Amino acid sequence: MSSYLNSHSSQAGNPGVRNALRFCAALLLIIALLPLFLFNTVAALLCFKAPLTRQTWIDISAQPVRLLRWQAGIFKGSAAVLNVLSGTIHFVGNPLVRAGVSIPGTARLCSPCHRPGLFDSLWLYSLIGLSTEKPLVLLHQQCRQSAFADTLLIVRIALCLGLYHKSAVMPPHSTLFGIPFSNTRMHSAVDWVVHDSAHQACRSAYYINANSVNLSARNAQLYQVLRSSDRNFIDGSGMRIAARQAGMSLADNNNGTDMLPVLCRAAITHKRSLFLLGAQPGVAQQAATNLRQQFPGLHIAGVQHGYFDDDEAVVNQINQSGADIVLVALGSPRQEIWIDTNKHKLQAQCALAVGGLFDFFSGNIARAPMWMRELGLEWIWRLILEPKAKFNRYVLGNPIFLFRVYVLQQALRGL
Ligand code: UDP
Repeated sequence: MSSYLNSHSSQAGNPGVRNALRFCAALLLIIALLPLFLFNTVAALLCFKAPLTRQTWIDISAQPVRLLRWQAGIFKGSAAVLNVLSGTIHFVGNPLVRAGVSIPGTARLCSPCHRPGLFDSLWLYSLIGLSTEKPLVLLHQQCRQSAFADTLLIVRIALCLGLYHKSAVMPPHSTLFGIPFSNTRMHSAVDWVVHDSAHQACRSAYYINANSVNLSARNAQLYQVLRSSDRNFIDGSGMRIAARQAGMSLADNNNGTDMLPVLCRAAITHKRSLFLLGAQPGVAQQAATNLRQQFPGLHIAGVQHGYFDDDEAVVNQINQSGADIVLVALGSPRQEIWIDTNKHKLQAQCALAVGGLFDFFSGNIARAPMWMRELGLEWIWRLILEPKAKFNRYVLGNPIFLFRVYVLQQALRGL
């Protein structure tokens, strides 16, 4: 897919062709939407209103954008296609400032896109909860991409709006399926992990996803561990769907794989060391080597594979290493229960349960292509790579989880 997009990106350079394409697409869309436009016009006239009004938006370069909007009827924002036809705005371009989409640092910088757009990659990232530390790099890529890639971006945003559309309510802390969680941006989550907790016991943090919810429903010990943790982060598109049905909106998707690079940078800045515990023999070691190469200055105090019996010896090994942050990759529910059982003996400041993280960073398992992650479909990739190991979790687990979401929704409605 990415090579296909790249091969098409050469078209991106010809503004004449792009403008003609945009004009034709807008015209075709207007023809297709004529019944809707007619309906909205009649509805407005019946209310003694002018059919169209202008609404002022601001794009992230702080430029005002005046967009048309129907005064009555349905899909009132659809009138903006007329603006695309006239060239005021493009289908894909400079992001408009939207409620709930705040990308730190972007507004202060000059966007590389020349024209505002109805759709943009930052909006897609915000809908799926993908955090980006380099929003301008993303926008540069968007500016260089082909018309075909623009179309795919619009389709992905439309799909994500259908699946995960944000509610206005974004509580900083909340509960889903009885499990409390923090609804944070990635940098706040990492700040919490690296912050100095001198004189405090080792803090525990877990990532809650559809699998954790399914497992905790039949494992009372895991359920209690998740309920009593110091912090839970929300991970995955399943939880995003559940949150939507519970009437709330989620900030970033704080999964371990996206968090680790941010955590490594913060660990270097705050002089924190890591201990990698878990995975098959040799995997954590390889992940440590790769991380040290990728993040010069990162201090990895020790590693230990995850197939051990003697907890006491491993706790001593971690304590002797002097590590500040312990990443525990023993698979669920073992990793959460291991942390809960041993955290009072650990001298580290924080322990995180990270699942298959080392398999990714050692290069043993490839991460899903970006377009799959942008749709929240990374689980399909993992199922393709490990069909046997992940069959129960995804093929059986996902429908069960969606049923739980349905029950949750009915319960919240009081039915
Ligand atoms: N694992 C381990 N000890 C065990 C069981 C599992 O170290 O007793 C490791 C396993 O090798 C893998 C990780 O735990 O690296 C679990 O990965 P999984 O794919 O289940 O995690 P996910 O990211 O999907 O939660």
